[in-house]
Amino acid sequence: MTGTRDGSPDRNGLRADEAFECPDCGARWYYTRHRCPDCGEREAATVELGVGELVAATRVEVTPADVRSPNRLGVAAFGDVRLVAQIDGSDVDVGDRVAFDGAYALREGDERREPRLTAADESDA
Ligand SMILES: [Zn+2]
Repeated sequence: MTGTRDGSPDRNGLRADEAFECPDCGARWYYTRHRCPDCGEREAATVELGVGELVAATRVEVTPADVRSPNRLGVAAFGDVRLVAQIDGSDVDVGDRVAFDGAYALREGDERREPRLTAADESDA
């Protein structure tokens, strides 16, 4: 799904698997910016990210009481778009293909939702 929207909505306005795309130069980015990082355009469309690659991963053993432990986190690349996400499952490693597995609240009661990644089902790719 692609739509045009103002370049400055809260991240909550987008699904976890969507990124912004500049309608002018085609640059893509994940986290809310008020302008295109490449050309300064103020409008932004949205695009689905699909399947990416896990490029870094870590495992946090000691977490606050209301955050899961251990908490696996990773950096995933979807083309030029990179983002930090929680990893679902212990069998996903750097270099693996990953897809979005929805979003979660880090803490109960949080309104903010963070993306979660899982191993990609390559039959969809
Ligand atoms: Zn641009």
